[in-house]
Amino acid sequence: MTSIDRRTALKTAAGAAALAGIAPAAQAQTAATAKLLFAVPQASIPVVGSDQLFPVRRIYCVGRNYAAHAREMGSDPTREPPFFFQKPTDAIQVVQPGEVAAHPYPPLTKNYHYEVELVAALKSGGRNIPADKALEHVFGYAVGLDMTRRDLQRAMGDQKKPWEIGKSFDRSAPIGPLHPVEKVGHFTKGKIQLQVNGQVKQDADLSQMIWSVAEQISKLSEAFELRAGDIIYSGTPENVGPVVKDDVILCTIEGLPTLSVRITDAAA
Ligand code: MN
Repeated sequence: MTSIDRRTALKTAAGAAALAGIAPAAQAQTAATAKLLFAVPQASIPVVGSDQLFPVRRIYCVGRNYAAHAREMGSDPTREPPFFFQKPTDAIQVVQPGEVAAHPYPPLTKNYHYEVELVAALKSGGRNIPADKALEHVFGYAVGLDMTRRDLQRAMGDQKKPWEIGKSFDRSAPIGPLHPVEKVGHFTKGKIQLQVNGQVKQDADLSQMIWSVAEQISKLSEAFELRAGDIIYSGTPENVGPVVKDDVILCTIEGLPTLSVRITDAAA
């Protein structure tokens, strides 16, 4: 903006304020002392063994990060790299270890799918983070479920429309407590498994991820400025499938406590 443009813009802003019956000085004061109309809860995840809560800023998810899952979704992992989407932060449903949390069957779907995933939580961020520095930004890890209204996701995909309605709905992100890196280290390998009613459905190893957590952070930071509070659902292995009311999902990642939910009646 040139200085003339800026003066014009300022004059216009002052004029608009005057028209609205607010003197420019009063307007500045209002901005400095303005109060929120109402409180909006901050989504957070408990940190295991402490009274601390990890505040969630953004939820990123990696799509098709295991080759066998990419193939079952109809894509060729040698030709199409993984990609990212987001869920709203209030999609978080915290599930305590040892608890079987009630998880209401969501509206509009007739094909509600589980996806067990490792979740990495960031304590810092940046832009263009090299992969060999990326893990320095990780605060800790948790077990997560990327719950999916598969029929809606597919229908939107077929129409080349956004996935939002299939992926980014209320309570679509159950998650266990965070385990700090100092206690559990980083996760580059280890069993990742999901059972429904005691039957093994998904059974793979974290080493099969196409993009490691470090690579996910590096790739994401090319597209977005990452910040403390961002969490990344790192993708699900093959054999995703449906659940119905009364099904119990049990998720296991080697080195973390299990996460379990029971599908209940639709939310009132
Ligand atoms: Mn997923």
